[in-house]
Amino acid sequence: MEIFLLPKINMQQDDLAKIALKQEEHEFYTPMPAGYQKGRTKFVVVVGTVMSGLGKGIFSSSLGKLLQDNGLKCVPIKMEGYLNLDSGTLNPYRHGEVFVLDDGTECDMDLGTYERTLESDLTRDSFITSGQIFSKIFEKERKGEYLGRDVQIIPHVTGEIKWHLRNLAQKSGADIILVEVGGTIGDIENSHYIESLRQLNYEEGESNVCFVALTYIAQPNTLGEQKSKPAQLGIRLLLEAGIQPHLVACRSEKPTSEKVREKISIYTNVPMERVFSMHDVESIYTIPQLLNEVHVDDEILRILKIKKKKNAESSSWHAFASKLGKKSQKVTIGIAGKYTDLRDSYASIIKALEHAGISNGVAVEIDWIDVTEIERNKKKPFDLLAKIDGLIVPGGFGKRGAEGKIACVRFARENKIPYLGICLGFQMALIEFARNVLGLEDAHTTEIDHKTPHPVVCILPSQKNIKGLGGSMRLGGRDLHILGKSQAFNIYSGKKKIRERFRHRYECNPEYIKKFEEKGMIFSGFAPKEEGEIMQILELPDHPFFIGTQFHPEFTSRPLSPQPLFVHLVATAMKRKG
Ligand code: GLN
Repeated sequence: MEIFLLPKINMQQDDLAKIALKQEEHEFYTPMPAGYQKGRTKFVVVVGTVMSGLGKGIFSSSLGKLLQDNGLKCVPIKMEGYLNLDSGTLNPYRHGEVFVLDDGTECDMDLGTYERTLESDLTRDSFITSGQIFSKIFEKERKGEYLGRDVQIIPHVTGEIKWHLRNLAQKSGADIILVEVGGTIGDIENSHYIESLRQLNYEEGESNVCFVALTYIAQPNTLGEQKSKPAQLGIRLLLEAGIQPHLVACRSEKPTSEKVREKISIYTNVPMERVFSMHDVESIYTIPQLLNEVHVDDEILRILKIKKKKNAESSSWHAFASKLGKKSQKVTIGIAGKYTDLRDSYASIIKALEHAGISNGVAVEIDWIDVTEIERNKKKPFDLLAKIDGLIVPGGFGKRGAEGKIACVRFARENKIPYLGICLGFQMALIEFARNVLGLEDAHTTEIDHKTPHPVVCILPSQKNIKGLGGSMRLGGRDLHILGKSQAFNIYSGKKKIRERFRHRYECNPEYIKKFEEKGMIFSGFAPKEEGEIMQILELPDHPFFIGTQFHPEFTSRPLSPQPLFVHLVATAMKRKG
């Protein structure tokens, strides 16, 4: 049941629960999740000003980490302005990688940053888009749930957004919900979120909502000094929207000067100790520490009137970040993908390699391999791969670059270069093996050549009748079995059952499994019987490290618990380098 909240000073929770006002008689329309208790969970809201690209996701997740290190349960939510229902159909070129949660949600890559930093699995409740909110509104309108009222941005859209935030608060039992508003203040796309948050602040009452404005401190080369004007103007937009920030985080290249902080303080009504520098640092892992040093956590806890449950300095993250230093040894891992000129498309792979490097005590350098150069006969695999110590063929879709990738896989197999094939990279390894070891010329995936005489990779039976693109893949976390005595079994520390995340439509054609096995390929990971005969890991025993996975191991790698396949890829690459 939903109740409607009529804010009054000092109103008791019980009174609230008793009020079920008829919405047509009042202007207060705030649907509340049943049993919601105001003030039980607090909200910290991060809003970007001036411009995008300031690293709002990294800042917000570092802030979340710091609050978590104070012993508080902190659950993030990212609110996207676009009208898509999720990120599944977005082009990685424009939006960076599509991150996949365990529950199958296809979302913004920032959720990956949150999962890695907060070391927790998130659910679809931590990601909303305007498309989701509006489609819920339209559904309700068609069902007649608005009882003859005209449906409006205020109060209905804003009401839906507030309901979502409170629902997450209640469901998660968090101490703090960390709200990241996508885009920048002033965007039409996020104006309904901003207005909802203004209302949320009003309704939740004092000490329950804390606003942090992330802003930009310009330093034009011609002047050589920091200027606060863009920041002042940006924050003014927030004030115009009825939101008084409690803290201002200044993104600057060098530490923000005292003078600039003073100016911002005067123009925004934020005391000096709550206007802090967020300058560039060498490693993002030290940002929580940086925030802790200027007492951002203490200020937030004071604003929200909550007590810390432990000292941030004693956290394992703090210990991890403190021992990061320059590595003397280096390995080079080649990534042969389609979007190699846009690094955000492979954000999680880059992170997983970084984690694996830290755990092996080595710096991992990435060599982006443009496989189309092989297809255009400009280069041979040797020219591109001679310098690398290991190779990854990442996930992908479609025809472009496929032949180049297959040529690279062959080179890695024949020259014993450590190889990790991810999703499409698993499928490319099957095709290469079929063509060059099984002698099945023209073997292919039906995704690229639906008339191939040897469809060694074909569409999953469950995918055959699905129409439309969004959310239609085999998605999310799934359990899989590991074959005893295999390389995978050793790499996963003797576990017989693991869980990894998927995002695909095609699979190894079951009719060819025997043929592959006869020539020495081992399928060391497979789906539980009830899901069908789906091969999930392949390996070659006569190779130091040749592994393909139908899943995406990069989505589950975290700094403090690096993904084992990446750790072994880097370790074998180090051995090869000698
Ligand atoms: N295009 C392939 C499929 O749909 C691989 C997908 C991927 O690499 N994520 O199965």
